[in-house]
Amino acid sequence: MRKIRQFMKDCKLGFGWIDKHTFGLYSFDKKEVKINIALALVDIFIHEYMHETNPNATEKQIMKKTARKLHRLKRSELNEVGRFIVAEFNYQLELYIQKRKAGES
Ligand SMILES: [Zn+2]
Repeated sequence: MRKIRQFMKDCKLGFGWIDKHTFGLYSFDKKEVKINIALALVDIFIHEYMHETNPNATEKQIMKKTARKLHRLKRSELNEVGRFIVAEFNYQLELYIQKRKAGES
C-alpha cells in the first residue's frame, strides 16, 4: 500500500471516454492514469440489471452476459444509461448536501 500511496502522489489522474472496451489507460511518458468512469458505471449498472433478468445465473455467468451486452450496446445507448446514472447520482448528492446543511443550522 505504501507504493500505491506514493503513486497516488506522483501520477496525474484524468477522466474521460476512451472506448467501450477500455476502463482505463496508462501513459508512461506523462505518468497519467485515465479512467473511463462512464463505462465503469454503466458496466456496474448492466451487471446488476443482468441479476434482475437472470435471477438464477451464477456470478460468472452474469459477468459473461454483462460483457456481451456492453459490447452490443451502441455508443448512444451507453450514453443514455450513463446519463441516467449521473443524473440520479447528482440528485442523491444534492439531497445529501441539503440534509447536511439542514442539520448544521
Ligand atoms: Zn453480481
